[in-house]
Amino acid sequence: MKCPSHSVDLVPSHAEEAFGWYCSKCSGLFLTQKEIQAFKYNYQTDILEYLSLVTPQKISNRCCPSCSKSMEMKMLAEVMLDVCAHCQGVWFDRNEVSKIIDDSGDREIPTNMADFFGGWLG
Ligand SMILES: [Zn+2]
Ligand SMILES: [Zn+2]
Repeated sequence: MKCPSHSVDLVPSHAEEAFGWYCSKCSGLFLTQKEIQAFKYNYQTDILEYLSLVTPQKISNRCCPSCSKSMEMKMLAEVMLDVCAHCQGVWFDRNEVSKIIDDSGDREIPTNMADFFGGWLG
């Protein structure tokens, strides 16, 4: 799989028990549906359930790294994510991930989600 912003191969990457696809150039992170299910199991937070309640803002100019279809932009709290309606993969921008970490606690973003991404970014 390639980064939706760069033509760089995404690198399979672990953070604690979670697994995702990481872009070494932009530090973006892609989770397939399977990895999001694992996240749900390990962190008791269902990102897809959150996102299923959100109406897409617009079509993203990025294409899904997994299935190459156009993704949709959805807001999770104050964070804009690219979500694939076809395969349910989610792309997390480096900047958006930082917001998840900064905003946890005082918003509806669960702290364990911030821990998860914090583990990735060090
Ligand atoms: Zn990238
Ligand atoms: Zn997809």
